[in-house]
Amino acid sequence: MLEDFFSPSSVAVVGASQNPGKIGYDILNNILRHGYAGAVYPINPKAQEILGCKAYADLASVTSDIDLAVIAVPPSAVMGVVEQCGKKKVDSVVIITAGFKEIGHEGALLEEQMAVRARELDIRVVGPNCLGIIDTASCLNASFAAGMPLAGHIGFFSQSGALCVAILDWALGENVGFSRFVSLGNKMDISETEVLLSMGKDDNTRVILGYLESIEDGQRFMEAAKQVSKTKPIIIIKSGTTSAGAKAASSHTGALAGSEHAYNAAFKQSGIVRAESMRALFGYAMAFANQPLPKGPSLAIITNSGGPGILAADACDRSSLHLSPIRKETADRLREFLPPTASVYNPIDIIGDASHERYEKTLAVVLKDELIHAVLILLTPTAAVNAEAVARGVVKLAEDTDKPVITAFMGEKRVRQARKIFQDHAIPTYDYPEDAISALDAMLSYRTWREKPERQFRHYEADTRKVREIFASIIKQHRHDLIENEAREILKAYGFRLPDSRIARTTKEAVAAASDIGLPVVMKIASPDVLHKSDMGGVRVGIETTTMVEDAFFDITSNIQQRQPEARILGVMVQEMIPQGKEVILGITRDIQFGPMVMFGLGGIYVEVLKDVAFRIAPLSVESADAMIRDIRSFPLLRGVRGEAPADIDAIRDALLRLSQMAVDFPEIIEADINPLLVCPEGQGAVAVDARITIHE
Ligand code: ADP
Ligand code: MG
Repeated sequence: MLEDFFSPSSVAVVGASQNPGKIGYDILNNILRHGYAGAVYPINPKAQEILGCKAYADLASVTSDIDLAVIAVPPSAVMGVVEQCGKKKVDSVVIITAGFKEIGHEGALLEEQMAVRARELDIRVVGPNCLGIIDTASCLNASFAAGMPLAGHIGFFSQSGALCVAILDWALGENVGFSRFVSLGNKMDISETEVLLSMGKDDNTRVILGYLESIEDGQRFMEAAKQVSKTKPIIIIKSGTTSAGAKAASSHTGALAGSEHAYNAAFKQSGIVRAESMRALFGYAMAFANQPLPKGPSLAIITNSGGPGILAADACDRSSLHLSPIRKETADRLREFLPPTASVYNPIDIIGDASHERYEKTLAVVLKDELIHAVLILLTPTAAVNAEAVARGVVKLAEDTDKPVITAFMGEKRVRQARKIFQDHAIPTYDYPEDAISALDAMLSYRTWREKPERQFRHYEADTRKVREIFASIIKQHRHDLIENEAREILKAYGFRLPDSRIARTTKEAVAAASDIGLPVVMKIASPDVLHKSDMGGVRVGIETTTMVEDAFFDITSNIQQRQPEARILGVMVQEMIPQGKEVILGITRDIQFGPMVMFGLGGIYVEVLKDVAFRIAPLSVESADAMIRDIRSFPLLRGVRGEAPADIDAIRDALLRLSQMAVDFPEIIEADINPLLVCPEGQGAVAVDARITIHE
């Protein structure tokens, strides 16, 4: 897959230049200089020879086959070269040239024409407007980057060429090796999804890093990532995720959504490790590329000073890792050689006068403790310690263990050499303990994701015919918002539990309805025009007597008449009162990249202020539904605090899965809120007492 891009037998550089400083020169120079063994054909009608290679006037003049063409001619000439590629049967092309979509309308038009033509000619294209590609296994550097990365196991793709350059330079400085580099450019043809899949299949690539600004096809990308991340970690930094949902939304879910949530959800659901900063990206890359994944969350910290140990312990507390208990035998063995003031419990503080021998002995003992899954070694450069000697000891012991060993030697001048030793021996090393912890945490989350059993999906019986009928009639009436009764019908068709309700047009009907349903009841205005009923004085809860029913009927109707005189009043809804329900909100929204999303949060009037919500892309697996419920900060409230009965979490999960199915079945639903779903105590279910649904044609 895309093999001709990464291990071609021959490469033509169209627009190869004789002048150093020109991109067409740099590319040719890079291809020739770094050991590429295939045939190289510079194409330049004005040259006989460039950099010692015979030059050709055009692709047709080359008599042998060409696997890959790298194009660096002016934008107006690119189309002609694509035609030549078609004639010469070159089916893999990297277009370095800029001046297309990124410059505006005219460029976009030209790019589109080029895309159409390339498709017709069966030519695959990386770029345009990119830095090029590099493959260290075939020693091919078909880019104008300054330098060649060391061979290694990290594959990197990037939507920004500048970032490729920066990463390359970082990698050279830190001794980090790469398998492949792909600068995606404008992604006219080949996008992140295909590059991801091809790196997934590449034996030399063990870790995949990516920098993305946008994703072409969210669902396809997720599918690819799910597949690849089963065997290789994918670490992505995504920029430009400011809310696209800033539009005026009529539902809470719509107002709370936004592409940031969509990306987070998509990454979580496909096993992608998200790096929040460049620093994290580098930090994670080092750890994932060089160390085994931790088999569990138990971390041991070895330190020669208290403060950094505590900082690391705090960071550990905020992560999914935890400080490992130390087995008694381990503690006893440590006591044999550590001074009495040392702490043999985690963080293991071997104190300020620790020498490299003490570090080494401690690490050796700690690595043998089977309760411990990972070790972080901290060092502050005291006078007593020779940091380089410590580093050499760590390197030696780390080679013989299947547990991840990572380090944070703080300072600069006196730890520089030690860091260098770590870099040379693939031991991840960080400036600060927090960065080390966050890398380990990312490794643990990835491992947890990978170990999870196959995703379970549920299918519910649903009366989709009924739903289709209702939607058709609404569209016919040129409406988009469903009235309460319609929304209730839809939810009923999907098996949601709804409170018993009747619409009463008179006080007498209200009293009759209340006695039918059984007191206490709730009464609400029934009007297609009142969006937020309680804001208008249109809701009364806890109505316990017939007199209260009569009063409520009068109050509710007159409130609405006063505050929203134009509202059509259909009557007052008398509704079963759900006691002891915890209010949660469930919703559907649609993301441009990823499609249907389901939201969950703690309900009530503060939902848009607290923003304590979780999103996932539909269809939801049972595991994702469970995870999103636990994702919100206020989850402990649902489990019950101070002797409260726990809420029926299974019923929430069930409701989320039904809603997810509905979102997938009916793309015409653009927004929906169930606010609130009243969740009863464990085993007693959940009831959708209020719902809003918006559709489009
Ligand atoms: P709106 O959101 O339009 O103001 P709701 O129907 O959501 O109207 O009612 C407002 C609040 O009243 C709910 O958030 C809930 O606290 C309470 N409530 C509504 N219906 C019931 C019910 N059937 N049982 C118990 N409480 C209810
Ligand atoms: Mg409501």
